[in-house]
Amino acid sequence: MKLFYDCNTATRLMIESEDRELTKREKILLRLHLMTCKLCRNYQKQMKGMAEYLNKHFAEEHL
Ligand SMILES: [Zn+2]
Repeated sequence: MKLFYDCNTATRLMIESEDRELTKREKILLRLHLMTCKLCRNYQKQMKGMAEYLNKHFAEEHL
């Protein structure tokens, strides 16, 4: 029984979520995977940190 996403699917969805709204099912399965997978949690943290850095950078540039 394949209940959770594997790491490839999880990371792909994290990247896609930047460009499109994930479906409810995708969000739930992704969250379940993140709860059980430390590697992908780290990856998500890195992605989030980078997005915040870029936002901050561009926000300051436009002041
Ligand atoms: Zn994973």
